[in-house]
Amino acid sequence: MIEFRNVHKTYPDGTEAIKDFNLTVMEGELLALIGPSGCGKTTTMKMINRLVEPTAGDIYIDGKKLKDYNIHELRWNIGYVLQQIALFPHMTIEENIAVVPEMKKWKKKQTHERAKELMQMVGMEPSIYLKKKPSELSGGQAQRIGVIRALAADPQILLMDEPFSALDPISREGLQKDIRKLQQQIKKTIVFVTHDIDEATALGDRVCLMNAGEIVQVDTPQKLILEPRDSFVRSFIGDKQSPWQTAVDIVAAQSVSRILTQTAYEEGEFDSEQSYILSSDDGQVLCAVEHGKQQHVTAIPNDMSILEAVGVFEELTASILPVTKGEELIGTITQQELLTYLASKMEVKNGVVTQ
Ligand code: ADP
Ligand code: MG
Repeated sequence: MIEFRNVHKTYPDGTEAIKDFNLTVMEGELLALIGPSGCGKTTTMKMINRLVEPTAGDIYIDGKKLKDYNIHELRWNIGYVLQQIALFPHMTIEENIAVVPEMKKWKKKQTHERAKELMQMVGMEPSIYLKKKPSELSGGQAQRIGVIRALAADPQILLMDEPFSALDPISREGLQKDIRKLQQQIKKTIVFVTHDIDEATALGDRVCLMNAGEIVQVDTPQKLILEPRDSFVRSFIGDKQSPWQTAVDIVAAQSVSRILTQTAYEEGEFDSEQSYILSSDDGQVLCAVEHGKQQHVTAIPNDMSILEAVGVFEELTASILPVTKGEELIGTITQQELLTYLASKMEVKNGVVTQ
């Protein structure tokens, strides 16, 4: 857990970068920090690993003041990923990943196993890539290594400062997916800086919107979009035409094959590994069937926004839901399909945006 209490930062030239900043980042949370250029995002991050010292106020990790930590231990325990990651050019990928584990005096075998495990997590074959040099990688691959290197020694906290903003849209989308997947597995406390509201809402458990050194609103993506606190928040979100506001039927229409009729069910004509919505032969929703087990579900109306539907999944154990238009069952949605849709929209949008 990271806590900022009444933190101020004024640089020696008089720039007031951060003003009375109060924020708690929970254990295991991914907090997306967003706001216009110069609003103080990088300053906030650098204060967490003490690359910048606050002028007033205190920052705590797990209830202990940063000043009371040994600075080396503090930094080893905080992974840091930058926009332009700097891999050591003369070292192999494996050696790059091993830097912090070696400082922490991990055994060679343990470090090697860790490097392999992390490479697999981001879909890069260890036997091929661990031996390569940074110059042999694409921009997207190098950035993946930057993320892995930051995670290598199993830090408790991960700071990511616009880690994907220099990448092409496709690499960027791939890495966003990696981060979502990684976060499900590793559950680190992550502070993720971005200037892209879609990236912030897609990745963040909560989004912290800043302006001129101050917090304007900290909320879940759903709340930020549905209940913007003021016109600044509204304008920051509004003109993005967020894919979150799209109705679910665009996703549901693609997955009618997940509707299983009673007859097909009784005759065993389904894949027991898959999730289905079981319907009567005349199209009434009966229940969900997941791994062969039946589960009660409530239908989602076809005009519900993707944003709200993601919220519904958060409160459920079912991973599939029926979508109805009036009384009619028109398709099904899974949380994964919603996320895949959002990611695909971000790619198109980033393709249009010139940075
Ligand atoms: P962001 O990451 O949101 O773009 P920064 O935290 O980098 O914002 O900067 C916040 C403000 O502090 C800006 O006005 C910037 O010009 C200023 N600033 C950043 N670093 C320094 C520095 N080392 N000395 C003086 N001013 C700085
Ligand atoms: Mg910055």
